[in-house]
Amino acid sequence: MDLGLKGKKAIVCAASKGLGRACAIALAREGVDLVITARTASELEATAAEIRAMTGANVIAVAGDITTEEGRAAALAACPEPDILINNAGGPPRGDFRDWDRDMWIKAVDANMLTPIFLIKSVVDGMIARKFGRIVNITSGSVKSPIPELGMSNGARAGLTGFVAGLARQVAKHNVVINNILPGPFLTDRLRGGFQEAARASNRPVDELVQERAKGSPAGRVGDPAEFGDACAFLCSANISFIVGQNLLLDGGAFNSSMS
Ligand code: NAP
Repeated sequence: MDLGLKGKKAIVCAASKGLGRACAIALAREGVDLVITARTASELEATAAEIRAMTGANVIAVAGDITTEEGRAAALAACPEPDILINNAGGPPRGDFRDWDRDMWIKAVDANMLTPIFLIKSVVDGMIARKFGRIVNITSGSVKSPIPELGMSNGARAGLTGFVAGLARQVAKHNVVINNILPGPFLTDRLRGGFQEAARASNRPVDELVQERAKGSPAGRVGDPAEFGDACAFLCSANISFIVGQNLLLDGGAFNSSMS
């Protein structure tokens, strides 16, 4: 299937590893020119080189913290008129809400709600003028099915989801579509880190915990970031402008419901 994206330009945030990296690879395979971001310059440069070698795409690495104004300005300076924006950042820590002070909450809201909103604000009018825009926000399955110890993630991402639901319907007539992808468990460094913590706490091998989690899923496995990237590229396709303001849950069927 030709997604009709050859020659388009994308900013993919938080993309040196994990889900962001997978989205960048899938878009590069479709002939999209990329600006990718992450805080650790050396890892980001290595990922950019890997994607160039894999796909032949033009990839610019812009190191910086996307949750800061400077980080966002640097990404936008490298790609002032993106056709595609993939919003992503690290997730907030786990814990007990009694331990979270105002500063921690502001950090979570900044990273997982306000950063995507301000990036959308910076690019959406240009997309409207050029009559093409695709925005995908990487949120979390926790928006639909809360994970109690990830309360800051549940809260901040729900705020983004509410905002996007309204905005997506204001801009859709201009061929600018905004959707969210909600990951369940995908085997990235973040998820591996969670399994390693649990393995230490329970004195059990990491692999056993991964297998246990996999068994709890109707798909019988955890997700592969590459399939997340493919879904993201699909939601950026030139042909999907009738898919508006949706929340695509990728969790192998773990959320039990007759309708999504
Ligand atoms: P990951 O493997 O830890 O990768 C995170 C990527 O984001 C890295 O490239 C990291 O590079 C970059 N990054 C983090 N904070 C950043 C910042 N402030 N500015 C710029 N880049 C930043 O994580 P992941 O599993 O792909 O998760 C991506 C998002 O999906 C997170 O918000 C996570 O909570 C959410 N999520 C993941 C899963 C899952 O199963 N994997 C499930 C639900 C939700 P630097 O550290 O160098 O900046």
